[in-house]
Amino acid sequence: MKIGVLALQGAVSEHVSMLKTLGVDAIPVKSKKDFDNINGLIIPGGESTTMGRIITKFNLDEVLKEKIENGFPVYGTCAGMILLAKRIENYEQFSLDVLDITVVRNAFGRQTDSMEIDLDVKGLDTPFHAIFIRAPVAKDLGKDVFSLAEVEEGSVFVRQNNIFASAFHPELGKDPRIHKIFIEYINKSKI
Ligand code: GLN
Repeated sequence: MKIGVLALQGAVSEHVSMLKTLGVDAIPVKSKKDFDNINGLIIPGGESTTMGRIITKFNLDEVLKEKIENGFPVYGTCAGMILLAKRIENYEQFSLDVLDITVVRNAFGRQTDSMEIDLDVKGLDTPFHAIFIRAPVAKDLGKDVFSLAEVEEGSVFVRQNNIFASAFHPELGKDPRIHKIFIEYINKSKI
């Protein structure tokens, strides 16, 4: 299995290393042709307005949207969650418009640069130590969207069929369980 990490901006290498420790081939994705050989894609954290601008500049928006709408597995972390969302409450900016949630950017206040929480995640036996950096939250989840973890401000890990999104950064810790959930989904969906 090979998973791509969208490598236009943001925390790319951390995802690549995490995938490699799990024995998965990981490649940075920068152009349309990089999509040919991958079974899934991670859209990393970073700055969603900047990443959105680069996505459109490199004409990746159409290919991304079409693939995701046709069932291609994708997992967005933090800025990646924002880029997947259908609705962004507090900013006018580009998004791929595929995940039926409303995202609130910087939902923990502009001052809260980062925080770490032991988070209960559906499907995991013990809490996940989650790192948040100027993170969004999801609300108004559409009927096909399942919340897999919540905090007081809203949902921080969601799934809509082939689309996964978390407000936190599992690639920055040592615990591979969130990446494993995505990998297991890809494995199952290939059969
Ligand atoms: N605050 C950033 C944004 O709105 C996301 C931060 C992150 O990805 N760590 O784009």
